[in-house]
Parts: sequence; structure tokens; C-alpha cells
Amino acid sequence: MEVCSFCKDKKKENLIISGYDNSHICYSCISASHNIIFANSEDALVNEDSDTLNSYSLDVSNDAKNSANTFDKFTPKTLTSILDQHVIGQDRAKKSFAVGVYNHYKRIFRQKDNNVNISKSNILFLGPTGSGKTLMVQTLADYLDVPLAISDATSLTEAGYVGEDVENVLTKLVQMADGDVSKAEKGIIFIDEIDKIARMSENKSITRDVSGEGVQQALLKIIEGSIVNISPKGGRKHPNQDFTKIDTTNILFICGGAFEHLNKTISHRLSGGNIVGFSRNNDKREVEETNILHNVEPDDLISYGIIPELIGRLHITSVFNEIDLNSMIKILKEPKNAIIKQYQALFEIDDVELSFTSGAISSIASLAIKRKTGARGLRSIMEDIMMDIMYDLPELANSSIVITKSIVEKKTSAVIKKLDMQKIA
Ligand code: ADP
Repeated sequence: MEVCSFCKDKKKENLIISGYDNSHICYSCISASHNIIFANSEDALVNEDSDTLNSYSLDVSNDAKNSANTFDKFTPKTLTSILDQHVIGQDRAKKSFAVGVYNHYKRIFRQKDNNVNISKSNILFLGPTGSGKTLMVQTLADYLDVPLAISDATSLTEAGYVGEDVENVLTKLVQMADGDVSKAEKGIIFIDEIDKIARMSENKSITRDVSGEGVQQALLKIIEGSIVNISPKGGRKHPNQDFTKIDTTNILFICGGAFEHLNKTISHRLSGGNIVGFSRNNDKREVEETNILHNVEPDDLISYGIIPELIGRLHITSVFNEIDLNSMIKILKEPKNAIIKQYQALFEIDDVELSFTSGAISSIASLAIKRKTGARGLRSIMEDIMMDIMYDLPELANSSIVITKSIVEKKTSAVIKKLDMQKIA
């Protein structure tokens, strides 16, 4: 089977050059190489007369025509193949996210003059913590070379109350664009933990809901597209300050959240009002408990406490699955910047060869599953295992260390073998 020799992509239509000895290179790897070679070079600018592949980066500070030409090269398939290099699994989420991003930039750069106004589609990420939501946004923002601001909805409050103004997310984006407002106006804002600002139900509190519905209303204003005055340095606005105007019409907003217990609401709806597993009869639809979030509908989110107007602005929903043991093992080993590869690179600097047995990898993955924080827990588990060895690392040059299951389970300490110097030379 033909496989890209660089990223192992098997999709035949994506393999465009075959070389000697059954080697191949795909469209996305050519583009990535091109970006590396021409980074910071004038050659990276789009040459309209040339048929050759030019820079893939969305040169958002250039005029729309140049950017449109550059953008012609992106397809949802190119975007998913980039995501595949960094994010394990989550195939459905990758697909919907890639289509969402593709449509968003197509709307900005390639809209035809036919009196049809294509409205902006923002994206909602649903899924447990540590399942790759932030990673996915970061990967595409990096690849597209657009500024990205990540904010936590729980830190925001309605203007005038203790906490951060919602407009500060725009300030952050301008800062990420190095102060270039026009670049920021085509950037991406990721607001995490949106589920934590669900509206309070009427009888929960008699005080004003400044960190719930109030924030949702304020977010709605900027998400739907408006011109907003921001204070370039952030912080609260005050009358004697200089403001910068920013148009949010072309900013892509992605809201993310775990929406704990939303699966219960969905199961309840799908089972026709019966509690799943209780008085379920054959006429009722069988409800799969796993990955039930894929069946989410706007009404489920409204009953969770998200205001309908905001849901109406988040047209695309990408649902992320919980990371299972198999994916956890792959996350440790396979992505471009996989944790194991990172530690091996770190050890290599001190001339130490590091390897892990498959038993050790499975054991680390199981520990992460037990923590219930998704793949987020892997880093601290690894730090804990490697701490003692890293303490001695500078004195261990020219040796090899194999991490076994019993080291992970703290039953034994690492065995360090001196390497044959002749073999190394
Ligand atoms: P969240 O879904 O809470 O936003 P993150 O994307 O921040 O989770 O994931 C935390 C870390 O866990 C990432 O930096 C990455 O190292 C790892 N990770 C999580 N999910 C995946 C995945 N599907 N593929 C590869 N790495 C992942």
C-alpha cells in the first residue's frame, strides 16, 4: 500500500509524488516543508503567476486577494491530515472542526459577489477534560498561522462586576497578534469551560447572575459580530483611556466545555422520557450509554443553562470522546510531540538513551485513566516516574535506561547500563 514516508498518510489521492525505493510524499508534507524552507523569506509570499505550490500560511495581514489565493490550497482533508499528526482519535470531531474552519475562512476570503450574505458559523466543542479540545484548536491555529487567544469562561463576569470583562478576550487576541488589529480580526478565540457559566435556575439565587447569564449575553454580543472598543492594555475600561476598535465579524469563536451530566439529559430524551435502564421497554429506542453526547441537540444545551441566542450562534458542534486505554497508549507514543518522544529528546541532550517497555507504557496509560483527567494527567505521571532519574541525568552520559512496568509501579528503581562507546562512535 502507498503510504507517505513522512506522516504515514495512507490516503492515495493525497500522495502526489513517488520517489525511488517505494517512497512517497503527500500534499500536506510538501506544504509543511515549503513553509519551513520559505519561513521569513520574501519567497513565501504568494506569486500569482506561478503554478508552483506557495506558502500555505494564511497571510492575514496581506490584502484579501493574496490571502484568497493562498487559501485556495486548504481543504478540509488537508486540515484533518494536519490534525492527525498531533491528535489521536476524535475522528468525527476532527472532520466537523476541519469543515467549520474551512467554511469560516472561505467565507472571509472567497465570498462571491452574488448578494448572498453567508453568515458566520462559530463552533462548540463538547467533551470531557483532557480529550484534545485545546490541542486541536492550537494545532490548526499554528498551521494556519492565525493568532489564537484562549480564555476560561469562569474568569469572566458581566462588565462592572468583580472579575474580567468579556472584552478582555479581544485584548488578548490583539496581544497574540503582536498588536496588529487587522490580523487579530481574522484570528481564533477559544473560550473554554463555557458549561461553567450556565444560567442559574430561577430559584437558586436571588442575586444577579453576573457570572452566568450575564457573561453569556456579553459573549453573544461579540460572537455575533460587532465593533467593540477595547483597552489595548487590558484591564477595566475607564473614561480617560485610549480605546482601540476591533471588528469581531470575522473572528472565529470556539466555545468548549465538558458539560458533565448532559448525557443524562440526552439519554432521557432519547429514551422517550424514561430513565435509562429503568422501565425501558422494547418500543423505546435503545440508548447507548457510551458517547451519548453525539446525539446532542440545541434543546439539551438550553436545558443545561446555555441561552438559546448563544446556541444559535454556535452552528457547528464537535463532540469529543473520552480517552480510552488504547488511545491513551497511542497518545504517549505516536503524536509528533508525543510525551515519550519529548523525554527521549530531553535525555538525548545528556547522551542517554531512553526507552520504555510496552508494559510500562500500558501501566502509565492505566494510571492516567484512573485519574479521570483524560490525557492531561500523563505529563504529571511521567514527571513523577522520571524525577529521580532526571536528577542524576547529567552524570549518566553514554548510558541507556529502560523504563519497565515495575519502575512505573515503583516496585524497583531504574537499571542504568553503560553503553559500549565503540558502538556509539
Ligand atoms: P481539553 O480537552 O481539556 O482541552 P487538552 O487538549 O488541553 O484537553 O489536552 C491536554 C493534553 O493532553 C494535551 O496537551 C495533549 O498533550 C494531551 N491530549 C489530550 N487529548 C489528546 C489527543 N486526542 N491526542 C493527543 N494528545 C492528547
